[in-house]
Amino acid sequence: MENAAILLCAEMRWGKNDYCSRYCCLSGTKSARELQERFPDANVYVLYENLRTLGVHEDLYKEAQRMGVRFIKYSFDEMPKVSYTNGLKLNVKDQLLNIDLEIPLDMLVLSEGGVPTEGADELAKKLRVPCSSGGFFQEAHVKLAPVDTSNEGIYIAGGVQYPKDVADAVAQGSAAAARALTIISRDALEVGGIVSHIDPELCAACLTCVRLCPYGAIAINEDDVAETNIAKCRGCGICATECPAKAIELRHFEDDQIIPMVEQYLLEVKNGG
Ligand code: SF4
Ligand code: SF4
Repeated sequence: MENAAILLCAEMRWGKNDYCSRYCCLSGTKSARELQERFPDANVYVLYENLRTLGVHEDLYKEAQRMGVRFIKYSFDEMPKVSYTNGLKLNVKDQLLNIDLEIPLDMLVLSEGGVPTEGADELAKKLRVPCSSGGFFQEAHVKLAPVDTSNEGIYIAGGVQYPKDVADAVAQGSAAAARALTIISRDALEVGGIVSHIDPELCAACLTCVRLCPYGAIAINEDDVAETNIAKCRGCGICATECPAKAIELRHFEDDQIIPMVEQYLLEVKNGG
């Protein structure tokens, strides 16, 4: 083999998958280094738009450079073109040297990024976990709760959240396990005081609240009326506003607490207060 090229960001960071996969620069550069090692006389090219070998992985990039791998910066506006006439041919504009290159190839490798597993959206719906725009499971807060989800008790780690390298996935797995331990190590769970309460005398078992609760906290019990699982309830109040039988109230936000406040406010507005 004489000429090989590895194209980074294939189908990533533009078009449908407009995010960085974090590991493809690494795996592409690693493959280039392996190729150069096995075929020392070959020309090995890495085409990158923006090379992201994070942290200590910068060493891998430098080592590949030292071994003779050639790195060519391309632009998403002037994508490299591949054609076949009496052999594979690559045309690319080197953005740093501002020159057009034509390279005959024996091998072209597309370094693709990570995409959500097929069916991940269905699983997310079942677990009532929101997904990001890329289709990955969304964490509750990127800095303050990076392995939590908005559905309490469900923690995420690894590629389900977004593509990442093994070291990051292992660290996140440890964090998710530690968060899960804070629940399963207790004999009893404390729940928040602001949870919904359903009056079984009024409930007509119409299922409206069961369908609407974003956290799956309401189910029909053995008495054929709706009942809140207060460990799951997050106190959003959706069920209370939608129940056609007015059977649901949110503790600490009950009608006889809220309505006098609204009435008093309206009275003050009316009196110019
Ligand atoms: S919406 Fe109201 S009436 Fe319907 S099941 Fe829920 S509590 Fe019962
Ligand atoms: S208050 Fe919100 S989370 Fe709690 S049961 Fe009602 S809809 Fe579900």
